Amino acid sequence: MNKIPFISKEKAEEIAKEYPTPFYLYDEKGIRENARAVKEAFAWNPGFKEYFAVKATPNPCLIQILREYGCGCDCSSLTELMLSKAIGATGEDIMFSSNDTPAQEYAYAAKLGAIINLDDITHIDFVENILGKLPETMSCRYNPGGVFQMSNGIMDNPGDSKYGFTTEQMFEGFRILKEKGVKNFGIHAFLASNTVTNEYYPVLAKQLFTLAVQLERETGAHIQFINLSGGVGIPYQPDQEGNDIRVIGEGVRQVFEEILVPAGMGDVSIYTEMGRFMMGPYGQLVTRVLHEKHTHKEYIGVDACAVNLMRPAMYGAYHHITVLGKENAPCKWKYDITGSLCENNDKFAVDRMLPRIEKGDYLVIHDTGAHGYAMGYNYNGKLKSAELLLKEDGSVEMIRRAETPEDYFATLDCFPVYQNLKEELKGE
Ligand SMILES: *Cc1c(COP(=O)(O)O)cnc(C)c1O
Repeated sequence: MNKIPFISKEKAEEIAKEYPTPFYLYDEKGIRENARAVKEAFAWNPGFKEYFAVKATPNPCLIQILREYGCGCDCSSLTELMLSKAIGATGEDIMFSSNDTPAQEYAYAAKLGAIINLDDITHIDFVENILGKLPETMSCRYNPGGVFQMSNGIMDNPGDSKYGFTTEQMFEGFRILKEKGVKNFGIHAFLASNTVTNEYYPVLAKQLFTLAVQLERETGAHIQFINLSGGVGIPYQPDQEGNDIRVIGEGVRQVFEEILVPAGMGDVSIYTEMGRFMMGPYGQLVTRVLHEKHTHKEYIGVDACAVNLMRPAMYGAYHHITVLGKENAPCKWKYDITGSLCENNDKFAVDRMLPRIEKGDYLVIHDTGAHGYAMGYNYNGKLKSAELLLKEDGSVEMIRRAETPEDYFATLDCFPVYQNLKEELKGE
């Protein structure tokens, strides 16, 4: 897949006059087209709902766009719940798929009427103690253990992951919940991450549908929905073939017809909780070259750093980079693209072949629309950037301002650094 920047060099220069680099830019058109495709791919299932994983891109202006395509919100913390409520999502528009959950968060989720997806069997009593009575609809997160395998090999390692109920606990949990008056049940599982294959959801669905049939038979619990959660990947590498959501939706439909329909469970709703697939390709981090450094290697220092995008430093993740204005220039120079943190892993790319880069060039770091801005932190006292929306008409709207030193010092109630700073700057 060819990686195309959302903007030209001229447009970047124009935007940077108003919003200094670095900034995140999101492509409204791409977000809408993809959201529509997801909706259509699962239109065969009347109850289908995508609960967007808020943690991936917690910007209300972006999630509001998804809401127009029927998306709900998948949350796992108090502030994600608050954000979802502010957007107007309440009740069954919110899936609360948390783990290691504080009591206060369960209480708030229940107050909003969110669907609670339990991560552990001990949380049945925990939630009952908090709420007094369990909600009528509840979901349990499943972890079969072992490895998750598909035709092209091992995809992930659920046996090593902290999440979910074991198979035995699913049966016991459903029995207990039923005794305690729960009427409608859901099954949730997230068994592999960033799967760039159309097979993941269908293979997962087969496993969950088979379990659902057994659970309904053995416990008598009414299964209302099966939540395939997240994990549908995107091609970060330019030579990778992306997923086709229509093929994925059709694959799930076939398994549904094969397993659930004959078992008399054709009324089950399919839910998803995609984050990366919904937003990843539709965000780009735009940064400007500050320095060239020629030592043991060739370094290009930019004005963004791992605080703005952590994935390369944290996972060694590949993010494609385009030099604006040099889209078609030969990639004959080998660079490390670095940020300014006092951390040697603060590199957006290592030994990357790129066109000749000069000071002042604009670089676009691709596929940063999910788990990008959201993972940011404030190490070295670095501040988080603005988020901008490139609208369908070509205009640009700021959907989150950049942090200021005042934001950074705001929690130091015991020591008002910023007030002193203001005093100090007054005299300048
Ligand atoms: C992170 C997460 C998601 C989204 O994952 P993606 O890989 O972004 O699709 C969905 N559900 C839960 C419970 C998660 O923790």
